[in-house]
Amino acid sequence: MMPSWLYRQPTEIRFGCGIRQELGGVAASLGKRTVLVTDRTLVKQDTTLEVIHHLGGNTPVFSDIEPNPTVHSVDLLAGVIRQEGSDVVVALGGGSSLDCAKAAASIALQGTPARAYHSEGKTLDARHLPVITIPTTAGTGSEVTPIAVLDDPEKSIKAPLVHDNFFPKVALVDPELTVTMPKFVTACTGLDALAHAVEGYWSRNHQPICDLMAREAAGLVFRHLPSALADGGDLGAREGMSLAALLGGLAFQLPKNAAVHACSFPLSNRYHLAHGLACAMTLDWFIRFNTPVLGGRGLALARAAGFNDLDAMADAVATLKRQALLPLRLSEAGAKIEEVDSLVEASFHPLMKNNPREVTASDLRSLYLEIM
Ligand code: ZN
Repeated sequence: MMPSWLYRQPTEIRFGCGIRQELGGVAASLGKRTVLVTDRTLVKQDTTLEVIHHLGGNTPVFSDIEPNPTVHSVDLLAGVIRQEGSDVVVALGGGSSLDCAKAAASIALQGTPARAYHSEGKTLDARHLPVITIPTTAGTGSEVTPIAVLDDPEKSIKAPLVHDNFFPKVALVDPELTVTMPKFVTACTGLDALAHAVEGYWSRNHQPICDLMAREAAGLVFRHLPSALADGGDLGAREGMSLAALLGGLAFQLPKNAAVHACSFPLSNRYHLAHGLACAMTLDWFIRFNTPVLGGRGLALARAAGFNDLDAMADAVATLKRQALLPLRLSEAGAKIEEVDSLVEASFHPLMKNNPREVTASDLRSLYLEIM
């Protein structure tokens, strides 16, 4: 008998090239005073001007967000939301802008700084503003998840903050917005989407609806990421990757991620690796590590992704990393062999317990020595 399971997804999803033009109507149906959240790079680009135009031309804009958003950015944005009396938060960008917006849309109404919820265990109540997400990368799945990955640099804690309040009200997924993504970002975010699909699938809490989306998302990544890397203007490949990221987000948001993501937090925290790159560093290793316990389910995932077995799928991940010229070794990011023991210790985030095969400190030591 299969264990009982639950599936739900409260976010309304609108997908397609040009769908961003529906933003004005969607925002007006949710409130009267929008605030637009984006990052320091995107704020200077035409996409932001177009989005401001769709919002009526004079919406306040907040763009003071680091690549790995901090609890401090969330507090600054929450202050802007209160000051402007905003009742709808529109988030345009990659995972950083979306995660910061989702957290601030709750914390603005709670009156306590973000650190209390992220690093000190305080619980959020149900008050929050509606959020519209518009991703400009294809990977994090943040457009549909209730997860905000935040960094508290003073406490050296980078970890996800998760709450039902953080489910976006509407996701507008427009693949045209991803065509200008640089190759490096395309690779990192694309492999993050694959990691979500694979980890949602092999999570100890896997369930059949998320499994379907995981298998489809994994297949889409292997079909479309090579083309998106070779020609960023290939709209078919971009559309495939936007769909892969969306389905990857839906595939892991209930089962949750596992060892690859547990390891990614100290890797990105200590060596300033982009989130997707930190996941890509260990993804092929964990595919091979978990294979013995996955049995027929593993084979089904490999076949859905276009391979004879998981070993061939792990090889294809390694090939994608080389094609994208991603760093393959931790030493390229400044890691030193004497740091391995403390890295192992820092990798036992609670998500590690979700891994289908038990991971010991000695397993992690082998992994980190192999990729050092
Ligand atoms: Zn991720």
